[in-house]
This record gives sequence, structure tokens and C-alpha cells, in this order.
Amino acid sequence: MLRLVKTGAEGEGPCTDVLEINQPGDLRDIGNLGLTLAEAKRLLAGVQREIVAAQAREHADRRPTCPHCSGVCRVKDYRDHAVATLFGEVTVRLPRFRCAACSGIEAGVGWPSHCRSTPELDRLQAHLCAVMTYRTAADLLKQTFPVDAGKHHATLRRHTLKVGEALGECAAVRPETAASAIVVTLDSTFIRSCAEGERHPEVRVGNVETQSGGRQVFGAVAKADTDIRALIRRNLDAVGRTKDTALTAFTDGCPGLRRILADAGVVGPPILDWFHVAMRLQHLKQIASALPVDDPARAEAKAATVAEVERLHWRIWNGKARDAQVSIDRIRAVMHHFQGEPDQRRSTAPSRKLWTALQALDRYLAGQSAWLADYAERHRAGLRVGTAITEGTANFLVNRRMNKSQQMRWSRRGADLLLQVRCAVHNGTLGSGFGQKFQPANDTYPQMTIAA
Ligand SMILES: [Zn+2]
Repeated sequence: MLRLVKTGAEGEGPCTDVLEINQPGDLRDIGNLGLTLAEAKRLLAGVQREIVAAQAREHADRRPTCPHCSGVCRVKDYRDHAVATLFGEVTVRLPRFRCAACSGIEAGVGWPSHCRSTPELDRLQAHLCAVMTYRTAADLLKQTFPVDAGKHHATLRRHTLKVGEALGECAAVRPETAASAIVVTLDSTFIRSCAEGERHPEVRVGNVETQSGGRQVFGAVAKADTDIRALIRRNLDAVGRTKDTALTAFTDGCPGLRRILADAGVVGPPILDWFHVAMRLQHLKQIASALPVDDPARAEAKAATVAEVERLHWRIWNGKARDAQVSIDRIRAVMHHFQGEPDQRRSTAPSRKLWTALQALDRYLAGQSAWLADYAERHRAGLRVGTAITEGTANFLVNRRMNKSQQMRWSRRGADLLLQVRCAVHNGTLGSGFGQKFQPANDTYPQMTIAA
């Protein structure tokens, strides 16, 4: 029998029997060792009930001063409040007070209106729902905790979206130190829509980084509640942007994203993220290395192509994209050697793939020429050349929880609000307002917590 005894300065007070434990003393079976989960849950729930009852008794002894006339309040009546906690639902018996002087009613608690759960439970629910499906989160809570309320996945979804909504209303808390330079990155990805026939909603994700390595991620679903421009401004504020801060932006080269950045006050021209250029070059290299070498002329042409792709890479990296055309022309000049490949008409033939990839890169570089930088020079100066990290962020924020393999379909609003919770979990700011917990080195820890 487990008994809870109140002890204080005056010695032992009243006691309550919390739980009868019937585990056998016979340890031949390992299954008999220690408390079972069911007993632990009953124990937690029992202790919680007793603690809450004791707190309520103590609370009722208080006599608050009247906020209107500073008179002394007396207990008017009692009301029962059912509140879901992490350790079960409790009924709290709370007094209402009346001022003896002016007859004003005083609640005596500063709880939010219609308060039905503790902030800790709300936060844990939202956190779990951010990293796993609502159904799995509901199941996990039910298995692990004596949680009575909110165990249905639809309830969890409703609660989580409410947390997301509240996060959107938080104002940025500026850090004490101003940031001299901030790198902003913005990228986009897609999620599967639940509306029949609707296109996959676009999701904009990005991050802000200071030179000291501090980072905050953000994201918003297009045409949903969250205004991405306001979100970027708030994130800049949260990492210490002032009017003197040097802002550098990276994008994937989409004009829509450039416009968003400009609207958010990031006025300098955004640099095309090296990551996106490098991916295309990598693709080209793979194709070149798969070219056939079944006769000497082809072997020579392949060697020339592979070398020229390397040179192309070097040129773009060194800010000489204008000379890219030279490389592209040289590759074209030797391509005829690969004509007459057995399946040359098919798009899977290496020479056809090379041709297509080359055309695409040519168009891409022509369209992006204004946004290319001397990446090598930036790199030597210790500056960012891009944000493979943003790709990682996109994966983190969107794909792991919201992508196609999860077989989920999303409403714009639901995805947008859940994304706000995911960002807060990732930034380590869930339950603490917007950006309050921002630390210059918050990179590793939050990533581990969200690795689901
Ligand atoms: Zn009063």
C-alpha cells in the first residue's frame, strides 16, 4: 500500500492511501520486477489528485485584496473546475471571493478563460503532434500517461492548431545583442492537398542566421493564415536585426521568392543559392560519366566532355558564369560522336540525356545570370555561398511530417498552423513565445528533438 503523508514544520499531517500495489515477491519471472506501467499511471494520477486537492485547500485560505477598492475579500462560494493535466484529469474546487466593502467579485486566479488543461499538457501534446501524426501522438500519450482528456486524435489536432494560431500572434522578442549581419534564406516546396483537384499547396520555408551561428527557421503555407513577409520580419527581429544590420539573402532563383524577400524589407538582390547550381552540375557530371566508350573516338569525346563539365563547374563557382557558354559549346562540338547509339532515340540514352541536361543548364544560367555571385571569393572570405541547410530545413519542417510518404493530405490552414508548431519545436521556442529562447548556438539540440 502506498500512502501519501503530508509533513511540515508541525510534523506529520493527514495521510491518504494512494495505491495498492500487488506485485508478487516472486522474481522467477522478470515480468514481476518493479511497477507496471498501469500501476505507475494509477500512482501518478493518484498523487496528482492529492496534490491538487491540497493546493486547492491552501488556495482557499487566501483572502485576496479587492482590485477595485483594496478592501478585504471573503469567500463567496465554491466552483468545481475540471482540468486535464499530464497526470490525469483533476477536479479543482476553487473559491470565488466577494469584497466586503464594494461587493465586487474576485476570481482569485489568473487563469485564461475557458481553461480546461494545463500549459504543460498543451505543450507536450503540440510537441508530439509536431513530430508525429495526430493518431500516433494520441496513442503514445494514452499508452504512457494517465491522460484522460484530449486522447482522441481529432482533439489533439484541434489543440495543436490552436497552439499554432497562438504562435502566430506572438510578437518577436528582440535579443539583447544586435546582429551586425544576418543571412536570410528562402526556399519553397510542396505538400499534398486534401482538396480534390486542387494543386499541391506551396510551402515557403527558410531560416535566418547570424554570424555567431544562431539560427531560427520559419515556414508558411502559401494562401493560408500566416503572412510569410511578416514572419520573415519577425524572425529577423528575433535574431537581433537593427537598421544597421547587413542582410544577405539566398533563394532558389524563383522570382516569387525574390519578391517576398523584397516585401519583407530584405532589399539587396538575393544570391542564387550555390546548392541549386551544384545540384544541376552534379546531374550533368553523372550523365557525362555514363557516356559510352565503345570506340576510341567516343572515349576521347567522353574525356573531353567530363573535363569540360569540370571546367564549367569551376567557371560558375569562380563567378565566371558568362564563360559558361564556351564550355557548353565545346561539349556540343563533340556530341556527334555519340550519335548512332543503339537506343539513341530514347530519352534514356546517355547522349540524349546529356543534350537535355545541357540545354536546361544553359537556359537556367541565362535566366539566373543576374543573381549569380563569385562563390569562390565568398567562400574564401568565410561567407555563405548557399544554404544546403535550407534544403535540410525544408526536409525537417515539411517532408518528415507532412510529405507524400506519410500518405497525408493537408488543408492549407491545417498544414500552415502545424508548420508554425514544428518551427517552434525546432527553434526550441514552443511554449515560450516567439524567439525568446533564441541562443547563438541552438543548432544541434532542437534538431535531435525533432528527429522523428
Ligand atoms: Zn472592493
